[in-house]
Amino acid sequence: MTARIGVDIGGTKIAVTRFDAQMNVAHEARRDTPGDYESIVAAVARLVHEAGDGTVGLGAPGSNGPRDGLWRNANIVACNGRPFFQDLERAIGRPIRMENDANCVALCEAREGAGKGASVVAFFTIGTGLGGGLVIGGKVMRGANGEAAEFGHTGLPWMDEKDWPPVDCFCGKRGCAEMYVSGTGLVKDYARSTGHLLKGPEIVARARAGEAEAGAAIARMQDRFARICANLVNVIDPDVIVMGGGMSALPELVEQLPPLIRRYSFSGTAEVVVKRAAFGEASGMRGAALLWAPA
Ligand SMILES: [Zn+2]
Repeated sequence: MTARIGVDIGGTKIAVTRFDAQMNVAHEARRDTPGDYESIVAAVARLVHEAGDGTVGLGAPGSNGPRDGLWRNANIVACNGRPFFQDLERAIGRPIRMENDANCVALCEAREGAGKGASVVAFFTIGTGLGGGLVIGGKVMRGANGEAAEFGHTGLPWMDEKDWPPVDCFCGKRGCAEMYVSGTGLVKDYARSTGHLLKGPEIVARARAGEAEAGAAIARMQDRFARICANLVNVIDPDVIVMGGGMSALPELVEQLPPLIRRYSFSGTAEVVVKRAAFGEASGMRGAALLWAPA
């Protein structure tokens, strides 16, 4: 029975946890993420060495290009275009397994959290942006191009006048789901309908205080999210949809969602199970460590 080390490489912090064979926390450490690439690689290696022996799993924003082995799409831009996986493995001096950070959270929730026991688990992380992961039979579904479960950059389905014109996305396309269902999306939508640029929590607070415009913006976000989920049901029909990230605190995006998803599903009768994530911040490290656990 070996220990498992899980590493969560984030834009501001790098966090490492060493778990024992029963996945109890045996060691924890964290530090600020350095600004340049070489220092990031060195910092991760040092934290892993300090954690001790065990298998090493890592989660980071972005993904490994399946053909060129270069890291891409990370908001830690210093890592993009670099052989991040190979450089980390060399610096750590042990075989590593590494996944997109949202995929690690999805794996943790599927194995040990809200999706435990289900065979197909779809996970959304709703924060500033909209990320996701898909776990099938206990394994992360990465896809032939490493692009599976990029839910945030699927198009908003069944657009109508209220959604038009489509919002420009940073990825270069228009009408991506993330531009509607996320903190950023809520801010943009409220600004578009009222002319006022407020932060997400302020819009939520105004809705709770009874402001009609804020309530309508949240209702539009909810309806759009139901369409995105129904589209997913029409493709893979998950056993459970798990919602994580800061905005999953809103009941509109969890408890109140299934009847709306049902309405948009092809049959109009789909019974969709939607649950809030069971783990918080630690799920990235747990999921990374679980990359070495047999499915
Ligand atoms: Zn996009």
